Amino acid sequence: MRPEALLHPTPAGLYCPPGDFYIDPVKPVERALITHGHGDHARAGHGHVLATGRTLDIMAIRYGEGFAEAAQTARFGETITINGVAVSFFPAGHVLGSAQIAVEGGGMRIVVSGDYKRLKDPTAEHFELVPCDVFITEATFGLPVFRHPDPASEIRRVLDSLGTNKNRTHLIGCYALGKAQRLIRLLRDNGHDRPIYIHGALKSLCEYYQAQGIDLGKLPAATLEEGAGGRFEGEIVLGPPSAFNSPWVRRFSDPVIAFASGWMQVRQRAKQRGVELPLVISDHCDWPELTQTIRETGAEDIWVTHGREEGLVRWCQLNQIRAKPLNLVGYEDEVEE
Ligand SMILES: [Zn+2]
Ligand SMILES: [Zn+2]
Repeated sequence: MRPEALLHPTPAGLYCPPGDFYIDPVKPVERALITHGHGDHARAGHGHVLATGRTLDIMAIRYGEGFAEAAQTARFGETITINGVAVSFFPAGHVLGSAQIAVEGGGMRIVVSGDYKRLKDPTAEHFELVPCDVFITEATFGLPVFRHPDPASEIRRVLDSLGTNKNRTHLIGCYALGKAQRLIRLLRDNGHDRPIYIHGALKSLCEYYQAQGIDLGKLPAATLEEGAGGRFEGEIVLGPPSAFNSPWVRRFSDPVIAFASGWMQVRQRAKQRGVELPLVISDHCDWPELTQTIRETGAEDIWVTHGREEGLVRWCQLNQIRAKPLNLVGYEDEVEE
């Protein structure tokens, strides 16, 4: 069997003809396997959804209990057979519940990694390497210039700034799923014990992480009743990127605008957003992690999806590994980063 007979791109997403299912479809389908809860991978309106319990929980939080007609939980490492095709889920290290999905048929194993990272992160299950014949990788930071710094050093820049700008609110923009919780945990691990104030849009997912045993400490709402009459002098406040274009930001005391994203390595992007304190903290692999993972899977074929496909395909070819871009549409690296 050619690998394309087991899995190939269609306008609705990656499709497995013998199993009759899609992985992370961008359109409503009868049967969907979902890698993780980010909006461009997990959408509402499918017939049957198979995902990890945490991803199903996150989908229910974001879309309501009726996000699909039926939901089935996949446990990490367990094999589930769908129309004769064996599928299994393995941790991807990207956000809580995130999985790589292995699809096996005709003596071949294809691993769809979804989004993943290798760096240790107490707010996500640690990435597990899955040997395979075909490895499908994202390429969000698929260029040699992308090298993420140690997250602890980025967090220390926030704490240093807080020490020298005692009257200013440190307002950090971050996405609601994954980034916010990781940022909070990093602040705690680097000694910040004070309450961290959060925008209402972050509340339900932070509560979910806490309920799953990830201690985030005190997270009061960043409302007018809190934090020095709603001025939050010398405090850290977290909000989603959308809130930064709203009147919400005006209530804070001479805010230091920070933003946590792998893209903050690109000075131009930080400038465009008016970010004074760019924090290079990413939930995706950087270039060394991408190329290391490709080598370690032992895959003979690499299929590259959303991001900078050309760079990674070229690297594979230079290293005598077969590779091609998949040209899947509908995945936005900006949405989650
Ligand atoms: Zn993602
Ligand atoms: Zn993605």
